[in-house]
Amino acid sequence: MISLRKFTFNAFAENTYLLYDETKQAIIIDPGMMDNSEERLMLNAIAEEELNPVKVVLTHGHIDHVLGVDFCMKKFGIPLVSHKKALPTIGMAEQVSRMYGLPFTTCPDPTEFIEEGEQLTFGNSSMDVLFVPGHAPGHVAFVDHDGKKVIAGDVLFQGSVGRVDLPGGDAPLLAKSIQEKMYALPDEMIVYCGHGPETTIGIEKQSNPFVRPGFSAF
Ligand SMILES: [Zn+2]
Repeated sequence: MISLRKFTFNAFAENTYLLYDETKQAIIIDPGMMDNSEERLMLNAIAEEELNPVKVVLTHGHIDHVLGVDFCMKKFGIPLVSHKKALPTIGMAEQVSRMYGLPFTTCPDPTEFIEEGEQLTFGNSSMDVLFVPGHAPGHVAFVDHDGKKVIAGDVLFQGSVGRVDLPGGDAPLLAKSIQEKMYALPDEMIVYCGHGPETTIGIEKQSNPFVRPGFSAF
């Protein structure tokens, strides 16, 4: 069974997720820690649960989701996994961080790529990969069917959807990703978002003001 701890990091209030199972192997999804105190929060959780991190994984390459990548890769000597189409966005991270005046040095290139149809694995666990572009190129989501949860990055939020005004953003494509991929998941599935609180697929299908089945504001 996949367990999860959620952290909210950095000036963008980005959600970082630590996932692990009974083997104590763990993956860190979208590490956004931007300073020592945020790094310590992650290290403390890993020590408390006696975890062994094996991968850093990105839903997409936006700056607020990659601020802690270099720290995690170096600290644990582990690979970085993303979709191949996220590469150009990841490559822009340094330039974007300077724009925001963030204390950020680098985000290394991914060492492994993952695609829809493949499984994200660690310990005894495997998660389905969904390709859900529109907010950012190469955006993926990770589905734990047994645990009824999806790590959705910045595709779908409680009562909202990801912004589409950043480079590579595409509103109709985002609506299509949500309608065809996210809303095809079971209603009771919990959505763990890249920002803000959790929601469920059923709640958003019923009440999301931007994208519902058969309706898109874009
Ligand atoms: Zn984003």
